[in-house]
Amino acid sequence: MKSLLQRQKECYLCRKELGPAADLPSEGLEKHHIIYGTGNRKIADREGLWIHLCHYHHNQDEKSGSVHFKRQVREELSKEAERAFLQNHSLDEWMRLFTKNWLDENELKRISTKQSEDLKKEFPLIEPKSQHQNARNAIKQSGNANQQPPEGF
Ligand SMILES: [Zn+2]
Ligand SMILES: [Zn+2]
Repeated sequence: MKSLLQRQKECYLCRKELGPAADLPSEGLEKHHIIYGTGNRKIADREGLWIHLCHYHHNQDEKSGSVHFKRQVREELSKEAERAFLQNHSLDEWMRLFTKNWLDENELKRISTKQSEDLKKEFPLIEPKSQHQNARNAIKQSGNANQQPPEGF
């Protein structure tokens, strides 16, 4: 699956460091799975939790700030991956797949509030119970016997 975290083929961390105006190469990139280790790599691939990195940012050495040498960078990326995932999935799904939550409680709360608001927007008719009733009354009031629902409707 395509990356959930970036649209352009470019180094994710170069872009972060150099800003939106920088001209970045789309070649010589390496694919980094944000959540990796036994079993996770495959799932991360399937769920789009990977990014393009240049060699410097990916796997060069300790001095370069490479993801594979810097725990802090890995953790920051794990958070970003979880955020991206939670835009379309529940925290339960995340935990089932990856077992570790990276986000703090306040942020999770904000995300779940936003999720339920988005659901309401998507399915605005689910909540008001009276909608059905109104529809049936409208049919009755039309006065035409042929439009009445059959007995037991
Ligand atoms: Zn880079
Ligand atoms: Zn990697």
